[in-house]
Amino acid sequence: MTRARIRPTWAEIDLDAITHNIKAMHERLPEKTKIVAVVKANGYGHGSIQIAKKALDSGATSLAVALLEEALELREAGIDAPILVMGWVPPEAAAIAAKHHITLTFFQKDWLDQVSSMEFDERLQLHLKLDTGMGRIGIRSSEALRGILYALNDKPSIYLTGVYTHFATADAPNLTYFHKQKEKFERMLSELREQWSGEVTVHIGNSASAIRLPGDMYDFVRYGISMYGLYPSQPVKEEQAINLKQAFSLHSRLAHVKQIEAGDAISYGLTYKAEKTEWIGTIPIGYGDGWIRKLQGFSVLVDGKRMPIVGRICMDQTMIRLDQEYPVGTKVTLLGSQNGSFINIDEAAAYVDTISYEIPCLLNERIPRIYK
Ligand code: PLP
Repeated sequence: MTRARIRPTWAEIDLDAITHNIKAMHERLPEKTKIVAVVKANGYGHGSIQIAKKALDSGATSLAVALLEEALELREAGIDAPILVMGWVPPEAAAIAAKHHITLTFFQKDWLDQVSSMEFDERLQLHLKLDTGMGRIGIRSSEALRGILYALNDKPSIYLTGVYTHFATADAPNLTYFHKQKEKFERMLSELREQWSGEVTVHIGNSASAIRLPGDMYDFVRYGISMYGLYPSQPVKEEQAINLKQAFSLHSRLAHVKQIEAGDAISYGLTYKAEKTEWIGTIPIGYGDGWIRKLQGFSVLVDGKRMPIVGRICMDQTMIRLDQEYPVGTKVTLLGSQNGSFINIDEAAAYVDTISYEIPCLLNERIPRIYK
């Protein structure tokens, strides 16, 4: 049952912005390099199914997620494009992946031994992850690579279709470590090619790497944050190499408006006291929605003007100082544009000392996503 939308707090997802951002990346990439749309964590909080469909319509050729559950959700929605699960999946779940034609990531010999002893109706496709310096998951040495490739031989139920790595500093001002990782990857890839005759697709780049070094991305780019219109980091943004459109905006409406007098306090802990007579608005959103307490002091837009968040953000409500009286029901934009003004997700992220990725991921399912 779809619940009626009652509370006037919602996120708008501009699907045309997804198309725009995919086109912007396509224009930079050589013909041979395709786009994998990364839609893990519910499409970075934008809605994985809607984003996946739009990305595929806009030229992405496949999808990537972190969890097998996320891949299954896409299959249940009728999406039959290739899907790569980039995280570790318990070996016992390999049959589910095979049944639904979902590609798994692997990098452990024990895992491979366990999975290759199973029987599947359909052959399970695997991508091998190389840890070239991220230190998260993947094979780190030539010996381990040799062992895995040896173990892969003559396994009728599984086959290797890809190999990849992930960079730890692709978004940093200095690319020295990035290049070290890339060299290690190239070394391991040539070892793989010496020992393995099968065709494998190769992919190394996320948004930052693809924006900065589009010509070096092999067969695929794993396009995440910038597909959503957000820059991977300030240094990448300052290079201005790509024009992106933020897809996510967040809105609410004034639920209450009142005048307070000098000395009157707002919210828990009385952290805000009015210096003079002021108009205060209350909006129905709070940290229970992922609009976190650290945003106290940040601004929102009312009538296209910035109004500060005053007092502690509560679980379900946030107070703002208004420049004048506004009627209950007046639209408040917390992220995105209103009457020619714009609040960037990057700005909100910087304010709370985090990265843009975290902001839409934090805004949880209490906030309905409306697609435009
Ligand atoms: N590839 C891997 C392995 C990832 O973990 C991620 C995201 O964290 C991506 C690609 C997408 O990265 P980005 O969102 O920076 O484009």
